[in-house]
Amino acid sequence: MKNRDTLYFDYQASTPVDPEVLEKMRPWHAESFANPHSVDHILGWKAAQAVEESAATIASFIGAGPDEIIFTSGATEANNLALLGLARRAAGGKRRRILVSAIEHKSVLAACRILQEQHGYQIEHLPVEQQGFLRLEELQKLADEDVLLISVMAVNNEIGVIQPAEEIAAIARKCGAFFHCDAAQAPCAIDISSLAAHADLISLSAHKMYGPKGIGTLIVRRDLHDQIEPLIYGGGQQDNLRSGTIPVPLCVGMAAAAELLQQSTAERKRTTIRMLRDRFVQGLTDSGVEYAINGPPDHSRHSGNVNIRFAGFSAHDILGALQPHLAASTGSACTTGTPEPSHVLRAIGLSEEEADSSIRFSLGRFTTSDDVDEAVTHIAGKLARLYEQPGNKLAKAARV
Ligand code: PMP
Repeated sequence: MKNRDTLYFDYQASTPVDPEVLEKMRPWHAESFANPHSVDHILGWKAAQAVEESAATIASFIGAGPDEIIFTSGATEANNLALLGLARRAAGGKRRRILVSAIEHKSVLAACRILQEQHGYQIEHLPVEQQGFLRLEELQKLADEDVLLISVMAVNNEIGVIQPAEEIAAIARKCGAFFHCDAAQAPCAIDISSLAAHADLISLSAHKMYGPKGIGTLIVRRDLHDQIEPLIYGGGQQDNLRSGTIPVPLCVGMAAAAELLQQSTAERKRTTIRMLRDRFVQGLTDSGVEYAINGPPDHSRHSGNVNIRFAGFSAHDILGALQPHLAASTGSACTTGTPEPSHVLRAIGLSEEEADSSIRFSLGRFTTSDDVDEAVTHIAGKLARLYEQPGNKLAKAARV
């Protein structure tokens, strides 16, 4: 997909809103704009009905009930609500430990830090092996009767590794802990139609699945509603779990996006994207680019994801040189002003330097084979130039 002059290889950062989704959202912005919580008139009732129908569609997408869908502003809020909400309410109880994988999204890890610092929970980071899979035997050992919650994502946003959610759920159930699954990256990668049968709490984000930005959901098992402390107080909407006016157009958009992913064609689309991803990697090889792939083997990986290490080069230099032709990402965070190498790549055993030379390319619904071929040409060309640049320290290092 071309965004003016830029090839878009960053679908895991955000997907474009699908034109069909946009079309379904359109009337709810200006024509049918009423507040869905206006209980005194027909326009409010119609808006409320649209929200209910959206919740039902999203619920069926994940195997939950419509009353289990709590709309949030995105997966960051959903993750915060799951972790802070559950643990703050349970703060007086005997379960004082929380287990999270070492490669969770920052919104899970940061919420855990708050629970440790402000509520005295013991947070334990579960190790992953070299390809990114959770070490289940380690989880088994740590899962005990004092564990409140196990939080493991379904699909990783950097290396695309797909975790065995059912097995993790079984371990959680056995020790009586709750299982939270951050499934923000899952809808495009796997069939999640029965995820709610395994996880007690699930986070989703619409802008990772061709829906609009600014909306996500936390799916909360029906009987857990009174065990979650809200993050936002107000009018008591959404069973008191998340106050605030529900954004009808965004709900409609998220549901429309879920519907598209639920269609029988979803698996075929994944296969097409996987073929394009493989063509991209093969193209790099054919162009003589030296690289290594970080993360799991193909069958356990998000079909649109590839995380590539270009030894001796800085990922930031490569991405900088590729502007404005190609958009892709490093997994590094820059929260404190100085970039930190990706915690995910460090957790799978990469050195700081290796992590700094890695780029995530993510393909999606609108990627074409021409995009792939053009991207390969740009990358191979820029790498050759960087390699030859006299002042480029890393390129020099690569030569020795
Ligand atoms: N979890 C995962 C796995 C993600 O990839 C992201 C987005 N990078 C989030 C949570 C946060 O989602 P949102 O942008 O909707 O807050």
